[in-house]
Amino acid sequence: MNEYEIAIIGGGASGLYLAAALGKGKKTVIIERGARVGKKLSATGNGQGNVANAKAGAEHYFTDDARLLSSVLERAPVERVLSAFNGLFATDEQGRIYPAGRQASSLTDCLRRKCDRSGVKTLVETRVTGLEKGFLIHTDKGVITADKAVFCAGGKAQKQFGTDGAAFDLVRALGHKVTPLFPSLVQLKTNTEYIKTLKGIRAECAVTALCGDKVLKTTRGDVIFTEYGVSGNAIFTLSSYVTDRRGCTLSLEFLPDVSESELVADIEKKKRAGYDGGELLALTLNNQIGRAVIRYADSDDARAIARAVKNFRLDVSGTLGFDYAQVTRGGVPLAEVTDNLESRLVKGLYFAGEALNADGECGGYNLHWAFASALRVADALTK
Ligand SMILES: Cc1cc2nc3c(=O)[nH]c(=O)nc-3n(C[C@H](O)[C@H](O)[C@H](O)COP(=O)(O)OP(=O)(O)OC[C@H]3O[C@@H](n4cnc5c(N)ncnc54)[C@H](O)[C@@H]3O)c2cc1C
Repeated sequence: MNEYEIAIIGGGASGLYLAAALGKGKKTVIIERGARVGKKLSATGNGQGNVANAKAGAEHYFTDDARLLSSVLERAPVERVLSAFNGLFATDEQGRIYPAGRQASSLTDCLRRKCDRSGVKTLVETRVTGLEKGFLIHTDKGVITADKAVFCAGGKAQKQFGTDGAAFDLVRALGHKVTPLFPSLVQLKTNTEYIKTLKGIRAECAVTALCGDKVLKTTRGDVIFTEYGVSGNAIFTLSSYVTDRRGCTLSLEFLPDVSESELVADIEKKKRAGYDGGELLALTLNNQIGRAVIRYADSDDARAIARAVKNFRLDVSGTLGFDYAQVTRGGVPLAEVTDNLESRLVKGLYFAGEALNADGECGGYNLHWAFASALRVADALTK
């Protein structure tokens, strides 16, 4: 007889949520390599915990199986996802949902409390090193046995939270594939020729990501110029679209609400007033950005400068990498799990969270997936 009915590998967002959802009925253990559970969950949303998105739907995710992903989300509508937490939530105009108290650690505390009350055993500082059917779970503290195992070990983003991608070897050893991994929701490296002088400056832009001539996505938001390229919420959003491609370009449109002809008229007026070449966008744009745009236009023609304001291009050369990314593109393909997120290769092995090949855009979609997939597994294990 095994020690536990259910062993959850990884005490992050999905593992904790699953254990809380399983409740008292099951003899459950969470095995977490870190010193405490929910460390990443407590750091989400700049510490404010963007816990879900009211608009969550397959169109906001990247996966190999949109049908299965949709069905998981449909059975976990926002109200059901949030009902696991005792407390009030607030939704902003982009559908981003936060605890009303804006404290991510309160989400962790709530789930931990539920687990404690249900008698869930939590082992911290215990790293799973091997997984055998049956299940024999080898750890650096000894072997644990369980009837069922749920792989909630996350992806490869930000290893300081215990997620360095090494855990994928546990399921590779059981025959599972892991699709190529890429950092997503991350800063982008670009050519810096025209933005060297802009370090630390923030601008509200409409930004389009292109691959060749193909438009991948347009979004509007903050762009922050850095020594390596660009950051900011618009860039995080677009990183999802470019991370696994080569030859991508960003087209920044400064002043998206001002027309090109208005800009031309403004520049002509300044010329008539005797402004120097480098000052033709003074007052209209931040001074340093204005000078950079004029350098990029490489002309004092008003139309060329106005076009540069509307289409300031940066070539993407890469991302800042997994150490800075919020989420991992790739993982165990959804094609290798059933509708209940049970392995098609190993009976009794389930998956939830970022370990699966499903990542979302910026805005609460990734925690939403972690919780919705955990709910799907909880439903399967308690039916
Ligand atoms: C800084 C930051 C901010 C974020 N903000 C948001 C946000 O506001 N909204 C949003 O939707 N998403 C956000 N995300 C993404 C979101 O946090 C993750 O997608 C989510 O936590 C994934 O849940 P998970 O349970 O799959 O993995 P994780 O929460 O990463 O948990 C995996 C756990 O498994 C443990 N583990 C790994 N290997 C082993 C092993 N061998 N043995 C034992 N334990 C192991 C790890 O230590 C870790 O605790 C953010 C991510 C980061 C890094």
